[in-house]
Amino acid sequence: MKIQAALAFDTNAPLQMEQIDLVEPGPGDVLVRIVATGLCHTDLTVLANPQMPWPALLGHEGAGVVEKVGTGVTRVVPGDHVIMTTTSCGKCPQCISGQPSYCLSFRELNMSGGRCSDGSCTHQLAGKPVFARFLGQSSFASHCLASERSVIKIDTQLPLDILAPLGCGIQTGAGAVLNTLRPRAGTSFALFGAGGVGLSALMAAKIAGCTQRIVVDRVASRLELALELGATHVINAGDQDAVQAIRELSGGGVDGVVEATGIPKVMEQAIQALGHGGTAVLVGMAGAQASVTFNPMEVQSRNTRIKGSIMAGEGGVPSLFIPQLIEYWKAGLLPVEKLLRFYDFKDINQAIHDAHDGSAIKPVIRMP
Ligand SMILES: [Zn+2]
Ligand SMILES: [Zn+2]
Repeated sequence: MKIQAALAFDTNAPLQMEQIDLVEPGPGDVLVRIVATGLCHTDLTVLANPQMPWPALLGHEGAGVVEKVGTGVTRVVPGDHVIMTTTSCGKCPQCISGQPSYCLSFRELNMSGGRCSDGSCTHQLAGKPVFARFLGQSSFASHCLASERSVIKIDTQLPLDILAPLGCGIQTGAGAVLNTLRPRAGTSFALFGAGGVGLSALMAAKIAGCTQRIVVDRVASRLELALELGATHVINAGDQDAVQAIRELSGGGVDGVVEATGIPKVMEQAIQALGHGGTAVLVGMAGAQASVTFNPMEVQSRNTRIKGSIMAGEGGVPSLFIPQLIEYWKAGLLPVEKLLRFYDFKDINQAIHDAHDGSAIKPVIRMP
């Protein structure tokens, strides 16, 4: 079938609208008509540091309506509304033990470009391969081919445009707290980086009952939004020493911290901001060559834990976790709409621009 797609043809070049060919859904595949898709920082990172051939079709926070299903699909039927997330194999030790975000075949399934069993590409532009099925989706298009394991059926009454970013950014921030950090009620929490992932972590820390919630960023408008979303204290890292300020506010260091900037120096500060027995969760994406320094004696004597988290986090299963997040949203506890700015599909390059300069925290693109 023919689909409309916003293709990337070069590093950081504007996306171009093209009509491309998409194959019919194969075994286990689901064809989804996209209604809305979030724009995630990983899309921008990949556009800036390509790890694949051009042209490529990105986008991995899609939500829409199932149009067709391949053989063997039992989870959804045409007409169902779905949110999509990354896919996983369902068979490896990580998947079997309830850690699909850490699937051992993650890269092969989510970053291999979309091959059919005969070696041809699922997406083609004028007979030439398009790198697609990016992070289980490629949602910057009118239609998307997802695997059954990456679609999550939701109620048809729910707003697909507001909930689309639950598939990656919001799930990642909330998962870092609710699944990986798992703070006890009444503990103190600090966040470094008040973007879409970080602010989702903040809302989750409030849900979890953390009573002191300190947010560090360099952008005043983001700190204002953090206060609206439940921060009890905000620190502008451009004006003061964040570690010292956190230690003062919390009486020696916080119980839990989420680092969402991906900047190695800030990760070091996040570890330093912990009190005794504290846990740092690193969720911001640093480059493949990045490294972080810490003093092992301090880590030992302060009983510090350092954890990584991606997607739904430790023991997080998206098909259970995303519906849980939707319940929090319905109860007014996860007001994700406050992070969103909406764009028409034709304005996708404006959305990318606004995500780059930080004027939009979480752009969401609506299909015509
Ligand atoms: Zn993402
Ligand atoms: Zn797996």
